[in-house]
Amino acid sequence: MIAPLPFTIPHPERLRTDEPLARHTAVRLGGPADWLYIAQESVEELEAVVSAAWAAGFPLTVLGGGANVLISDAGVRGLVVINAVTAVSFNAEIVTVSAGHGLSKLARKCAASGLAGLEWAASIPGTVGGSVVNNAGAHGGDIAGCLVSADVLDARHGRRTLRVGDLAYGYRTSALKAQLDRRFLVLAATFRLQPGDPAASAARIDEVVAYRKRTQPPGASLGSIFKNPPGDYAGRLIESCGLKGLTVGGAQVSPVHANFFINRGGATASDYNALIDQVQAAVLAATGFRLETEIERMGAW
Ligand SMILES: Cc1cc2nc3c(=O)[nH]c(=O)nc-3n(C[C@H](O)[C@H](O)[C@H](O)COP(=O)(O)OP(=O)(O)OC[C@H]3O[C@@H](n4cnc5c(N)ncnc54)[C@H](O)[C@@H]3O)c2cc1C
Repeated sequence: MIAPLPFTIPHPERLRTDEPLARHTAVRLGGPADWLYIAQESVEELEAVVSAAWAAGFPLTVLGGGANVLISDAGVRGLVVINAVTAVSFNAEIVTVSAGHGLSKLARKCAASGLAGLEWAASIPGTVGGSVVNNAGAHGGDIAGCLVSADVLDARHGRRTLRVGDLAYGYRTSALKAQLDRRFLVLAATFRLQPGDPAASAARIDEVVAYRKRTQPPGASLGSIFKNPPGDYAGRLIESCGLKGLTVGGAQVSPVHANFFINRGGATASDYNALIDQVQAAVLAATGFRLETEIERMGAW
């Protein structure tokens, strides 16, 4: 039996307790959150819940689509807030979107509205918030290449607008990702795109989606597990070590793409984590490369 939250939030009836996070992650893994709140209504609602938790010094984790996180079987203590607030506005080439909006849906909306420059994002799962934190990218594009600024609520500094140059973007990293205490919340992002032809953007999106269908496996996964080392590809290195198909419990190195690990059903987060460790160790022993994870582990291991 879990006690009520020791602070007040606007809609306590929306709280779930002991909620399996496997229901909220792309790889369908992860034990329970003590409390889970899904903010859907407004940025103000989200801000109120997160600020109350910070003010109470309460453990808080923010998730978007759960597409880049491996959550332990023990789950996450304290309050997990899922940002599902979606609002978007267009002003000529400037697009302002709340961080809970799906990134791929945004790419399609922009394309349909005659704005080009986000087609690369059309099949990246997760939210704008997670992609701003991670500098998500694919097919030659990334967030750093089209973001103007992000509105961020910070436990220390309050609400502020960070320009793209403030975010120290690099390959799948940012100043936000490097902030280890994670006491910030991305509320919204502003992108600058280019006037485009909706039909040309739709055709580019079709190409991107078709490429991914051809080269990446279906099924529950976290996308690329490891970052590509300079001048090489993590998938190529893993494959060169003969690790395609390697299995731990219900977790498998995809026979289609060696940097994708699939939950074939019945995997635990521990299986998945052990597979990551085994692959990292085997690649290090065989090639001398220590692959760095692109995904983030959460919870107690
Ligand atoms: C099949 C598949 C394919 C993928 N392909 C790609 C790809 O091509 N390129 C790529 O870059 N990534 C790819 N990914 C990884 C993933 O889609 C991205 O990292 C995505 O940006 C994660 O967004 P999310 O909302 O799911 O973040 P989450 O996984 O929910 O969270 C990631 C991190 O961001 C933080 N966070 C999320 N939202 C907020 C917020 N509003 N405020 C503060 N912190 C927040 C979380 O606390 C966590 O630290 C893929 C994943 C899958 C499953």
